[in-house]
Amino acid sequence: MKRWQDIVLPIPDWLNTWAAEISPTLPEVDQRMAAVIDLARINVQHGGGPFAAAVFDQTSGELIAPGVNWVVPGKSSLLHAEVMALALAEQTLGSYELASYGSFELVTSAEPCCQCLGVLQWTGIASIVCGARSEDVEAIGFDEGQRAADWVQGLQRRGISVTREVMRAQAIEVLQSYRGEIYNSRLLTKP
Ligand SMILES: [Zn+2]
Repeated sequence: MKRWQDIVLPIPDWLNTWAAEISPTLPEVDQRMAAVIDLARINVQHGGGPFAAAVFDQTSGELIAPGVNWVVPGKSSLLHAEVMALALAEQTLGSYELASYGSFELVTSAEPCCQCLGVLQWTGIASIVCGARSEDVEAIGFDEGQRAADWVQGLQRRGISVTREVMRAQAIEVLQSYRGEIYNSRLLTKP
């Protein structure tokens, strides 16, 4: 008989090593994005996907929680960088409602897929900052899923500000250097 147990979100320990080596506060958005893109690059070296994200305090630039794409090693389609960073931020701060602790920004190396777009709306995040565009992600074979064409305006209508194409070229570089598994389920169903 099957016996199910808790599912634990895996947080690779080298994330702590990475965080210990950067400044705990990154006041400029380019510094925050550079750190996140660097994290995506390191994640690929550890067998993860070419995506990273982090939640920062919007005012001070303090790093609250990082996240990396761990779908393949973690054997779960939930484990996207944005989901991991947001879940870890909620656990770190102690609530599913980040807005009750201040204004927080999600910096992500690539624009959010349909899953991450859904999750981030339930977290009370104040803003998101994206590196690569969705078309850059799709150019290497990943799928962004079913999203409204006006998802940016949709987030803005909900009070979440969106900044796109921050250090896009550097984010694309990581995507294009990736030689690991492309877990696009649509590819599996194609004849
Ligand atoms: Zn995602």
